[in-house]
Parts: sequence; C-alpha cells; structure tokens
Amino acid sequence: DSQASDFDPLDQSWSRKSKTSVFSEWDIPYEDMHILELIGRGRLGKVFKGYWHGDVAIKQFNIDTDNELQLHSFKQEVQTFRKTRHENVVLFMGACMNPPHLAIVTSLCKGSTLYSPIHVWKETFNLQKSVLIATQIAQGMGYLHARGIVHKDLKSKNIFLENRDKAVITDFGLFSVTKLCEADRRGNCIRIPEGWLCYLAPELITSLKITNLGLDNELPFSKSSDVYSFGTVWYELLAGEWTFNNQPAQSIIWQVGKGIKQSLGHLQASRDVKEILMMCWSYHPESRPTFGELMKALDRLRLPKKRLARSPSHPLHLSRSAES
Ligand code: ATP
Repeated sequence: DSQASDFDPLDQSWSRKSKTSVFSEWDIPYEDMHILELIGRGRLGKVFKGYWHGDVAIKQFNIDTDNELQLHSFKQEVQTFRKTRHENVVLFMGACMNPPHLAIVTSLCKGSTLYSPIHVWKETFNLQKSVLIATQIAQGMGYLHARGIVHKDLKSKNIFLENRDKAVITDFGLFSVTKLCEADRRGNCIRIPEGWLCYLAPELITSLKITNLGLDNELPFSKSSDVYSFGTVWYELLAGEWTFNNQPAQSIIWQVGKGIKQSLGHLQASRDVKEILMMCWSYHPESRPTFGELMKALDRLRLPKKRLARSPSHPLHLSRSAES
C-alpha cells in the first residue's frame, strides 16, 4: 500500500503514521498477550512462555527507550523478521512495539537448544545425526542469507532441536539491539559470555575494542562471519566441546587474530568432515564457502564411501582428551 511504501527505515521518530502503515499487521497490543512463566534470561532481556492464539515465546527487551539508536535498531530488526518463513527458522508471529513494552513474539520451540545435549548432558552424536542437524542449520542459514539477513549470533544456544532432530534457528539479527559485552563496573575488564569468542571470525575478533562495546555498528558482521560461526557449531557437533576449550579469552583472541585454528588432531573424523571445518574457518572472509556450497559438502558426507574409515552410525566422538 502507498502508506507502507512511504516508510523511511532511517526515520528516527516513531510516528503514528509509520506504526500503523508498516507494523499494524504485526503489532500485538501488550494487553492481548498472556504472559506465563519465565523461560530464561539472556543478554537481550527475558523470555517468557506466553499465550497468544496458542503457546508462544515472548522475548521482552531491556531497551533504554530514551536511546533512540537502540530503539531504532529494534524496529529495524522487527522489519527484518517479517520477511522470514522457513521450517528451520523460528516463526515470527508479531511484536509489541509500544515503549516501554518492547517484545517479539515467536512460536514456542519445544525441546532444548543444541547447547544442552552438547555442553551439559555431554551427549554424543553419530556422524549421521551430526550431518542431519548441520544440513538443516545450513538450510535455514542459506534461507536467511538469501533474504539478506545476517544472523550475527549463530551458536548452539540459538539452535533448537525439536523432537530431538529438527533444527530451528532463533535470535537472528538481534545482536545489534544489545550491548556487545558488559564492561565490569569495578574494573577495566570486559565480561565475555561463556563460549562466545569461539564463534567470532578473525575479522570480528581483531575489531573488538573497548570503544566498540555499545552497538555492533562497527563490527564487520557478514554472511561470511556467519559461515565461520557455523564451522564452530559443526565442530561442537563433532567434538562435543567448544573450540579452544577452557583457554583464556586473551589466548583465543591472540590465536584467532593470528589465523591459528583449533587443532583437529584429536578428532576422529574423515578428511571430508574436517575439510568443512577448515573451509568455514578460512582466515579471509572471501575464501569461506556459502551455505549453498556447504549443503553440497554435507550432502557428500551422506553418500556411502568405501574410504570412510568408520560406519556412519558409529559414534564419531573424539577421545575428549582436550577436556581432561
Ligand atoms: P544469550 O543472551 O547469551 O544469547 P540465551 O540464548 O540463553 O543467551 P535468550 O536468547 O534471551 O538468551 O534466551 C533465554 C532463554 O529462553 C533460553 O533458555 C532460550 O533457550 C529460551 N528461548 C528463547 N527463544 C525461545 C523460543 N522461541 N522458544 C522456547 N524457548 C526459547
């Protein structure tokens, strides 16, 4: 409609006109939602189980509504969400855009994120299952990229496993809404969330500066940096741990910045399996594959090959020597 095409995404003001023309279809009045129990807290705010025409997840944002830039980022992300519809991407249902009530409503994911089986329950995935999950993630990510959406925070905590084998990607694009890391008020140190650094491509790691700790505008996130993060998720599936496990942040930053990669010596996997890791972790963003190419590489792993040393149903886990 003509009103909608009038919308200027760079318009900092939150005019009634733009709200009704662009967001009305997706705007959920705060009082229409039934907020039930708290599911968890993250850097962005709180996530509640809720009811709105069925079970939903309600993500409430801790946004300083006087901060125009942050509010603007939030609105822009909501714009982006509207465009998504894929079975491996969480279903966006609407948003509450009335400050101070800022929330995104999505389908409620069943099951747990990939984080729990890997890092908490220490479950092992055989190659067949790892390929199945990675393929679905690549499918969902390829879709987001085709829509022009860079995830910016792809990690095992943001991938749900529904019915234990269907991957659903959440939290895409929201990274710019939050603060990158919180500086510790008592000192000059930065509190970095557990495991976060190992998803960051070299070009991001080398751009991390204390002055960048506000919004991510200055960090060079790209489709290729998402591919790097995917490589780390692929490693987590195979190895059951994060890259550079238990190493101090300074050491990870130094190594990744220098182009040093996680060693794969302890990983009992075929060359093709490891090659996917190496391609994703290429130092130069332009050398990393696209998700379309990754799908093909993962597809090749499914084909039975005489030279595969182990049966696909055999657990592929490493000795976990790096953990002990
Ligand atoms: P971080 O802030 O570091 O990304 P996080 O991913 O745990 O950490 P949130 O994304 O805010 O933080 O999620 C908080 C909790 O809500 C997590 O336990 C997450 O699994 C859960 N959650 C998020 N989205 C959904 C959803 N659509 N359905 C069900 N649970 C969800």
